Amino acid sequence: MERKAPSGLDWWRDKPVRLLVVEDSQVHQTLVAAMLRVGADNVHVDPVTTLSAALQKLTSAAYDLVLLDLGLPDAAGLTGLELVLDHTPTTPVVVLTGLEDDDTASRAVNLGAQDYLTKARLDPETLLRTVRYAIERQQAKNSLMSTLQQLAISEQRFRRAFEDAPVGVALLEETAQGWVVVEANVGLSTIVGRSSQTLSGPGFLRSLNGDDSEAVHTWLGQIAHAGQADNLEARVVRPDGEQAWVKLVGSAIRDEAGVALQVLVQVEDINERRQAQEQIRDYSFVDALTKLPNRLLALDRITQALARAARTGHSVAVMYVDLDHFKVVNDSLGHAAGDELLRVVGARLPQAVRPDDTVARIGGDEFVICCEDLPAEPGAAELEAVAIAERVRTHLERPVTIDGVDTLVTTSIGIAVSSATRGTADEMLRDADTALYRAKDRGRSRWEVFDDALREEAVGRLETERALRQALEHVQLAVHYQPVISLATGDVVGAEALLRWNHPSAGLIAPEDFIRIAEETGLIVPIGRWVLEQACETLAAWAGPLNGRLMAVNVSAKQLLRSDLSAAVADLCSHYDLKPSSLVLEVTERQLVDLVGSGISELHTLSENGVRIALDDFGTGYGSLTYLRTMPVDTVKIDRSFVAGMGTSATDLAIVESVIRLGTALGLDVIAEGVETAEQEGVLRALGCVHAQGFLYERAVSREELLARYPVTATRSPD
Ligand code: C2E
Ligand code: CA
Ligand code: CA
Repeated sequence: MERKAPSGLDWWRDKPVRLLVVEDSQVHQTLVAAMLRVGADNVHVDPVTTLSAALQKLTSAAYDLVLLDLGLPDAAGLTGLELVLDHTPTTPVVVLTGLEDDDTASRAVNLGAQDYLTKARLDPETLLRTVRYAIERQQAKNSLMSTLQQLAISEQRFRRAFEDAPVGVALLEETAQGWVVVEANVGLSTIVGRSSQTLSGPGFLRSLNGDDSEAVHTWLGQIAHAGQADNLEARVVRPDGEQAWVKLVGSAIRDEAGVALQVLVQVEDINERRQAQEQIRDYSFVDALTKLPNRLLALDRITQALARAARTGHSVAVMYVDLDHFKVVNDSLGHAAGDELLRVVGARLPQAVRPDDTVARIGGDEFVICCEDLPAEPGAAELEAVAIAERVRTHLERPVTIDGVDTLVTTSIGIAVSSATRGTADEMLRDADTALYRAKDRGRSRWEVFDDALREEAVGRLETERALRQALEHVQLAVHYQPVISLATGDVVGAEALLRWNHPSAGLIAPEDFIRIAEETGLIVPIGRWVLEQACETLAAWAGPLNGRLMAVNVSAKQLLRSDLSAAVADLCSHYDLKPSSLVLEVTERQLVDLVGSGISELHTLSENGVRIALDDFGTGYGSLTYLRTMPVDTVKIDRSFVAGMGTSATDLAIVESVIRLGTALGLDVIAEGVETAEQEGVLRALGCVHAQGFLYERAVSREELLARYPVTATRSPD
């Protein structure tokens, strides 16, 4: 009894142990209790002598172990054990056998007893050790059981969560063939629009958009091996070919060693959100009609291209592509046709350039191309840019069938190369636009490169614009008047108002040098308005209500398009008490080309109000005869180039002759411009021309000179 198990005893001291000893023999009861107490003071023993008493005890209290005699009076053999185990399956049972019966003992263990002790061989150490290990084993078993139970429960929960999840869920495994789905839920089938069977194995990854499938593969690898739990957006391709955006959230399922066994992926349908996002992006960066980048995006791309070019030393070309006479198409065939034409051009343009080049639509019929990686050397870059522009021009110059009508599109292109300009995206666009202007000016359907000459011109233009604004404010402008005479009588029948600019340092500037800029900048609108007012004021002072003198005023298309010209004219007429028919508004053919919609109706309104309309520089454009038919024209003015050529060119003479004949036949007033010699006057008179103006009679003179030289009484009223 002196022998003790040192380590074993520590265990007994740590915590109280409560035992139920079921033994009908009083002797053994006492013996066992004594032996247990030897080992540990805090062992509590409840002795019972029958099985029924034992079961009662087990119902009312918790025991750490049951020592059970197999020869009880109310239970024979192993039945007692079975009843105890049924009653408290988690309490360890050690059986006491009176006989040396290994067979019974081993059957007891098989039934669930933790161990057995033979009464005849009992000693304290064996008893204590057996009890202790039985308790420990049972604890281990209990905890394992509970873990398993919990696992079973959570497995169930997981199943339910997996199956009923409102999102798609897929369990994927990495195999030699790549990632495959081992399980997919109903939610995923719904999102992808394919059955679970179709999605299992490589099916799910195959149902993704090609590029995305690869990305998802890589992403799964990262989750599994690099431990990155991230999400990813990808497109699934539904059976009908429709693509839908999904968001994937992945997490690895690992074993204890941290090795990823599987990856659980949640799949969420985010199609609506993505579509909304894309639409928002579309609205701000993409042109709705052609689906090409818009001005904003184009500027951004050019900026980026310039930044890259600064690093690499390459050149960037920006091209401004403008359809020639797009307005004519729009006007004659209608808006829908115009849109269709733009769509076709928008689709054709990218075909003429490299895939990396940017093609954008930045306004009405204006497109922009940005080409990168051109040679560093400016000359070489320019050559390549020109080659591209020529390719673009010819590529577009194929008929477009709209509403069954073949329409030929020609384009004008302005080119700016970065090595030559080295500016911002805005500046490159502006330079390309300037070059485009020259291309238009030089006859359209061609390209022009922004160069030093254009740069100087552009700088000069800016300077002129600034000065012109000042001129308007500081009244440096003046209107001079050139008399119109009757070839029959030699009388002055009217005058043409001609604008002059008294520049403080440059002196008198001719309109040819600034009207164009005034038109481009829109300054012509206030200037033209001012000229009109001056002319009306002069006419009121110069022509009495009865002498029938006319006042001709030149107007630009911009004035007809941008301001309420007819209303202004009506106001002026009533203010100066003038008959509208004493006013002649002169429009050149060049201006009429730009005149569309509202401008044309404005011209008709003016005519209906009684104002006369003159077709200026007649014969210099190519629509002269058409305009005679479609516009409310009262007067044609034979361009002075024909008058000047009459003496030397048979063609010019023929033109002058036919214009006079045509005008007379149509009942129009015909005025010959730029008559400088008596010979010219003689020919014109012989040809039946009615009116003339030119240096032969008078240059344009100031208001004062006009009033002084041609007083009101000098001409008799024809009516
Ligand atoms: P236009 O309407 O054809 O005006 C006639 C031009 O011919 C005037 O030039 C006039 O001075 C010039 N001229 C008249 N007789 C002769 C001649 O015998 N020989 C020669 N060589 N030239 C002659 P100007 O005043 O320099 O005007 C040039 C153009 O500027 C005008 O051509 C007109 O298109 C435009 N313009 C002038 N004033 C205005 C204006 O107030 N508004 C607008 N929109 N344009 C104007
Ligand atoms: Ca004129
Ligand atoms: Ca003229």
